[in-house]
Amino acid sequence: MSLPLWFDPEEILIGGVWHKTNARLQVECPSDGREIAQIARGGKPEIDAAVEAAQAALAGEWGQLSAAERGRLLLKMSRLVLAHAEDLAVIEALDVGKPLTQARADVAALARYLEFYGGAADKVMGETIPYLNGYTAYTLREPHGVTAHIVPWNYPMQIIGRSVGAALAMGNAAVVKPAEEASLTALAFGRIAQEAGMPAGALNIVPGLGEEAGAALSAHPGIDHISFTGSVAVGQRIQAAAATNVVPVTLELGGKSPQLVFADADLDRALPFLVNAGIQNAGQTCSASSRILVQRSRYDEVLEMMAARYRSLVAGPALGDHDLGPLISGRQKEIVEGYLALAADLTIAAQGRIAEDVPAGGHYVAPTLIGGGHGAHRLAQEEIFGPAQIVIPFEDEEEAVAIANGTEYGLVASVWSENGGRTMRLARRLRAGQVFLNNYGAGGGVELPFGGVGKSGHGREKGFEALYGFSVLKTVAAWHG
Ligand code: NAD
Repeated sequence: MSLPLWFDPEEILIGGVWHKTNARLQVECPSDGREIAQIARGGKPEIDAAVEAAQAALAGEWGQLSAAERGRLLLKMSRLVLAHAEDLAVIEALDVGKPLTQARADVAALARYLEFYGGAADKVMGETIPYLNGYTAYTLREPHGVTAHIVPWNYPMQIIGRSVGAALAMGNAAVVKPAEEASLTALAFGRIAQEAGMPAGALNIVPGLGEEAGAALSAHPGIDHISFTGSVAVGQRIQAAAATNVVPVTLELGGKSPQLVFADADLDRALPFLVNAGIQNAGQTCSASSRILVQRSRYDEVLEMMAARYRSLVAGPALGDHDLGPLISGRQKEIVEGYLALAADLTIAAQGRIAEDVPAGGHYVAPTLIGGGHGAHRLAQEEIFGPAQIVIPFEDEEEAVAIANGTEYGLVASVWSENGGRTMRLARRLRAGQVFLNNYGAGGGVELPFGGVGKSGHGREKGFEALYGFSVLKTVAAWHG
């Protein structure tokens, strides 16, 4: 199937105008390795122009809009996303390799983010501070100015929705650098913004390579905030660039998120969450749960329940809508296969299969469940970013917490137990940005603040909290005697 594009992917959006660049990047379909499009390859000149356009937007029409008007624009974009829903889902499935059902869920999430932030735009308020005799003091929440958004390839629409949606709601002007592997829906987002009537320069989209466009954007002296989602290594460079210009940065990096299964857990309820959190998007999810910690008395039982589910899993082309699709690239497949080779001293408890007729050029890896693990093993310490989970036994709460907290990451953790006191106690003890009790992910709710601790990053996106992150608090105090 060809891409249902209703726009020219070789153009980039700067200052409300679509431009061609001289250089191009090839777009590979991960399901079969074919080139399905070419996109523009922006570099430093295009980033410079985009930042300038964003600054002009803040000084012009965009900067004059009221919060309610910004909110209405985002709500209109939300409706337009839904009007283009099936095309967006097919584009994302072909570009990222994710099963169509998951791509459709990403479209729904993008529409919901725009709806949430559209509705919230005029509801962010400061406070009055009544304690000073002779003064009236209050706070204002103002936009940072130009916000830079460096986006990864695994959930382009969701990440653009949550970060750009919140930034625009607060009145910032955004420059978006999507990932070179998956830029198409970011370009579609730019078209939708224009269709909705977004003032020129409020949203600029410049695809390109990380070390060219990404590095130019993060180091640009004209930006006032950076939002980055991706690897720890690049996150460190982004933070260093932000330090040079002394601008705030939100980093959403990887994870090694555990699910803790106690002997008193409702295993029938837990099972789909235990497995899905590992294989969703073929494991290429920052909040993937790649460690399953099980109390020893039920370890064999849980391992076998998960193994039975794994044996039924099929990886295949995205549009075939299998349990999982291919990995994003040949490089990512190599990385994941390298990790799976480390399981030689452990037990492969079960593997799913790759559909018989997959195209030779696709980047498929069979989902793999690894047993006999321990917390110190490299597979239990490092982010795999592929469809693999390691199952580790523990004796008691103390040991479970020690293993769960024993990595450099801290993004998500979940606890499965019918003992309410224990779940509440562990919610406090687990080192993670979000803890889920008897669930994993809470259905992805856009209302829930999201972010990490440790090497998983800092700052929060999603929910109302993101609106605070994308604004600056100004204190005003008037003396009136
Ligand atoms: P990456 O961190 O290299 O890329 C993410 C984004 O950063 C892309 O837009 C990229 O162009 C940009 N970028 C790359 N180098 C840059 C630089 N020097 N300056 C500014 N921007 C730059 O991620 P990747 O190579 O695509 O994936 C590698 C690993 O990163 C994965 O295996 C996974 O562990 C992790 N990852 C995490 C997430 C997440 O959601 N947390 C998403 C994607 C990848």
